[in-house]
Amino acid sequence: MDSKKISLKKRVLIATSNPGKLRDFAGAASLHDVEVAGIPGFFSLPAVVEDGLTFEANAQKKAEAYSRHAPGEIVIADDSGLEVDSLGGAPGVHSARYAAPDLHGKPPHEANRNTDDDANNSRVLRELDAVPPDKRTARFVCVLAAARDGETLATFRGTAEGIILDAPRGENGFGYDPLFYFPQINKSFAELSAEEKSKYSHRGAAFRAFLEWYQV
Ligand code: IMP
Repeated sequence: MDSKKISLKKRVLIATSNPGKLRDFAGAASLHDVEVAGIPGFFSLPAVVEDGLTFEANAQKKAEAYSRHAPGEIVIADDSGLEVDSLGGAPGVHSARYAAPDLHGKPPHEANRNTDDDANNSRVLRELDAVPPDKRTARFVCVLAAARDGETLATFRGTAEGIILDAPRGENGFGYDPLFYFPQINKSFAELSAEEKSKYSHRGAAFRAFLEWYQV
């Protein structure tokens, strides 16, 4: 008898270079019968310029481009960020590079360069300096696009509502997690375990919507 195990799990490839996002997806997938893997050779593929005006546009652009490198596979890519109400929705689609100086007139690859999480967090804190707690409402947004062979099949949006703290709290997670207080369980996102983050986060919500569509 052949002792080799045959995996009957459905498979999906994730197009991201961000280890924090990979952890989030793996955490969410572990609760379901689906295997997530990175795209083979991802780091040697040309980077996609995220110059879309919406999370949807950027997620689709990434999923379509990377799916061309994995023929026949379902590839998902996300675009995500933090929307702070009193900043008119900023940093929004610019979340990954919020601390960058004004990039008007610079070539797209310059405008696309990410900035350090601590620097991004400091800018948000500085801009909210005089804003009282009841006006510090914010949400994380995640849009996932699923594509195959260069074509988007569907997009999925997940959100998480919270409040921006006046100082970082917690050691887990990445990005703006230490500033994002989630009243529902009285913790910042950087105080959540991987399981809690997949249960409550925007990425977990978008991924569950994808899984429902994918019928896992
Ligand atoms: P992008 O989706 O790769 O364009 O980057 C999104 C940026 O938004 C990240 O670099 C973080 O700064 C922020 N962000 C997105 N999701 C999260 C999250 O779950 N926690 C903290 N920060 C996040």
